[in-house]
Amino acid sequence: MADTTYLDWPFFEDRHRALATQLDAWATEHIAEVHGRDVDAACRALVRQLGEAGWLGHAVGGQAHGGHQDVIDTRAICLIREVLARHAGLADFAFAMQGLGSGAISLFGTDAQKSEWLTRVASGNAIAAFALSEPDAGSDVAAMSCAATLDGDHYVLNGEKTWISNGGIADFYVVFARTGDAPGSRGLSAFLVPADTPGLTIAERIEVIAPHPLARLRFDRCRVPVSQRIGASGQGFKIAMSTLDVFRTSVAAAALGFARRALDEGLQRATQRRMFNQTLADFQLTQAKLADMATGIDAAALLTYRAAWMRDRGQKVTKEAAMAKMTATETAQRVIDGAVQLFGGLGVVSDHPVERLYREIRALRIYEGATEVQQLIIARELLRALPTPAA
Ligand SMILES: Cc1cc2nc3c(=O)[nH]c(=O)nc-3n(C[C@H](O)[C@H](O)[C@H](O)COP(=O)(O)OP(=O)(O)OC[C@H]3O[C@@H](n4cnc5c(N)ncnc54)[C@H](O)[C@@H]3O)c2cc1C
Repeated sequence: MADTTYLDWPFFEDRHRALATQLDAWATEHIAEVHGRDVDAACRALVRQLGEAGWLGHAVGGQAHGGHQDVIDTRAICLIREVLARHAGLADFAFAMQGLGSGAISLFGTDAQKSEWLTRVASGNAIAAFALSEPDAGSDVAAMSCAATLDGDHYVLNGEKTWISNGGIADFYVVFARTGDAPGSRGLSAFLVPADTPGLTIAERIEVIAPHPLARLRFDRCRVPVSQRIGASGQGFKIAMSTLDVFRTSVAAAALGFARRALDEGLQRATQRRMFNQTLADFQLTQAKLADMATGIDAAALLTYRAAWMRDRGQKVTKEAAMAKMTATETAQRVIDGAVQLFGGLGVVSDHPVERLYREIRALRIYEGATEVQQLIIARELLRALPTPAA
C-alpha cells in the first residue's frame, strides 16, 4: 500500500485499519490488474475469489446470513472499495455490485428472501444486480414506466431496464417497477427476480469504455410471486433511495482509490523521467501539478470518510454523501487526467495503468446520481435547513 497515513485519521477504528492493510496485502497477491477480453468470466472469477476470501461478508447486512455485521459498516465498504479500486477497477466493481445488488434485501428483505440469497451473495456463489434505470428514466427515476400488475398471487412485469451492471451474468435482479396508479415516485415497488424467471430476457449487452458486464433487460409478461416483493407495495422509491444511500459514499471511495493510484503512478514517472538535464519532477510546473493532485485527494478523502463515519454513527448524511460523491469523482477525474499528462504519449497507450484509470473514472461522475444531481441535493439540504422567515 502506498501512502497509508490517512488510516490514522480519527474517523477509523483499529479494525478498519487492519481491514485495509490485510485487504491490500491480499489484493497484491491475488488480484490481477489486467483481465482478459472475457469480462463476464473475469467478473464471475472475481466474485468467487472475493467471496472465498471473506471480503464479500462486508457487502451484506445480517450475521445470520453471511454478513460480518448486522448493519453494513460504511467505513468498511469504503475502505474495501478504495483499496480494490487502487488495484483493479473490475475487482472494485465486483465487490460493489454484490452490495448494491443485494442491498434492498439486506435492508428490507424477509427472512426467507435473506436466507435464500444473502448467504450466497456473501460467499460469492450468487451474483447480484440492481435494476432501477430505464431508457426514459435515468436521473429522473420517478419517470419509470416498467409495470408490475397484480394477478392473483403473482405480479406480472412488463417493460425495460437499462444500464444494468452485472446484466447477463447476474443470478438475480432487484427490480423496481410501478405497481400503483400513484404518479411519480409513489406507486413503485421492489421485486426479487431470479435470472431464469420466464419472461425476463437480456435484450442487449452494452459495451462501455471501462468494460464490465452491462445490459438492457426486457420483461415480457414476467410472473413474479407476491412473496418475492421486497418491502411493502408502494415502498419501492424509498427502498431504492435507502439502498443508494448506503452505497453512494462508497462510490466516492472508489474514485479515491483510482485517484491515489494515479498519483502514485504520476509521482513515480515524474521522478524517473529525465528531460532537459533533470527529472520531470524537478520542474516547478510539475510540482504545482503534484501538489494540486495530492491536496485534491486529501480534501476528497476527508469528505468521504466524514460521510462514512457520520453514517456509521446513525446520522443523516444526505448532504455529506452528496458532497463526498461529487467532490471525489470530479477530483479523481482531474487527478487522473494530470497523471496521463505526466506520462506524455505513454499515458494514452492502451492498458497502461493511467490509461485504464482514465477510462475507469468516467462513469462514476454519472451513475448513482450525476454530479448535477448531487449539486441539487446539496443545495436542497442547505435551503431546507434555513429557518422559516417570520410572516
Ligand atoms: C457504467 C454504468 C453503470 C450503471 N449501472 C447501473 C445499475 O447497475 N443499475 C441501474 O439501475 N442503473 C445503472 N446505471 C444507470 C445510471 O444510474 C444512469 O446512467 C444515471 O442515473 C443517469 O441517467 P441517464 O443515463 O438516463 O442520463 P440522464 O438522466 O439523461 O442525464 C444526462 C445528464 O443530464 C445531467 N442532469 C441530470 N439531471 C440534471 C438536472 N436536474 N439538472 C441539470 N442537469 C442534469 C447530468 O449531467 C446527466 O449526466 C449505470 C450507468 C452507467 C454509465
